[in-house]
Amino acid sequence: MQAPAQLQDLRRMSARVGSNMLLVQGAGGNSSIKHGDVLWVKASGTWLSDAEAKDIFVPVCLSAAREALAQGDEGVPLAPHATTTLRASIETSLHALIPHSVVLHVHSVNTIAWAVRTDARDELAERMDGLAWHRLDYFHPGLPLAHALSDVIAQNPIDVLILGNHGLVVGAADCDEAEALVHEVEKRLSLAPRRPSAVDDQALRSICSGTDYRLPADPLCHSIATDRFSRAIATSGSLYPDHVVFLGPGLPILAEGQDLTAMTMHASAVGLSSPVSTLIPGIGAVIRADASPGAEAMLTCLALVTGRLPLSAEISYLSVENEQALLNWDAERYRRQLTADR
Ligand SMILES: [Zn+2]
Repeated sequence: MQAPAQLQDLRRMSARVGSNMLLVQGAGGNSSIKHGDVLWVKASGTWLSDAEAKDIFVPVCLSAAREALAQGDEGVPLAPHATTTLRASIETSLHALIPHSVVLHVHSVNTIAWAVRTDARDELAERMDGLAWHRLDYFHPGLPLAHALSDVIAQNPIDVLILGNHGLVVGAADCDEAEALVHEVEKRLSLAPRRPSAVDDQALRSICSGTDYRLPADPLCHSIATDRFSRAIATSGSLYPDHVVFLGPGLPILAEGQDLTAMTMHASAVGLSSPVSTLIPGIGAVIRADASPGAEAMLTCLALVTGRLPLSAEISYLSVENEQALLNWDAERYRRQLTADR
């Protein structure tokens, strides 16, 4: 089917935004344009950073997507004559619902650092003053989130949405405006990261030697283990959905006196696979040798977010029910698989 000229703008903008680790990590985030009754939206499990190199957008029938949302139907109807084998993003209902021509959803780290806090609501409001914005509490992505949003946008015109324990959504008239708005919000919410301390690579390599673990690609990840505040936050629970999907709930810590082989054996004895990543307090983070690039990106995201949270911050974590809903969701299994196959 004929793609509109604006799709080229969307691809360029999405690739740029997707290549910025402070805005998007791995297969996270999504973007869309509306053209007549067609919503061109990112396909599930694809990476925004691939937007120019690959076909990552699928055409969805906009009126049918809105109807499905109203009926509580999770299925998303592709536009007539669409030939893709990809599935539309699990957030398609959110894109369909927002009236703006361009919708951009990112997991920007400064916004997330505010969106996981239960304190500082006044300071957040001050920083966002003058924008048409709203903060939503955490809702399971997909239909529950879209339903919560539909109540909000029925009452106010909103350009900027902060999703509790999740990220940022902006709506705009065109791609340049959407990208500029994301940068504007991130600038307003900007937090200085704590400096990571030096890491003893050699010590970590010898800890990993002969185990199923290796060093993560990004050395910044070690700060989650070496900065005691970041470590306390990371080991207390899960902050946002993609962490749970790609790394599992929270992050385990290697107990004193335990080694990685003993930890792996202990996990398998109780029928579990060994954790994707583990923190070794004061030394660094290790990641399973078979971890996907999506999991690597999520570990970097956690370092970027936790290292920006002030020491006094009161954090809200996802509940066990929230975590289980993400882990048992078929749509997320599909997305994880597609990311692993990238
Ligand atoms: Zn998201």
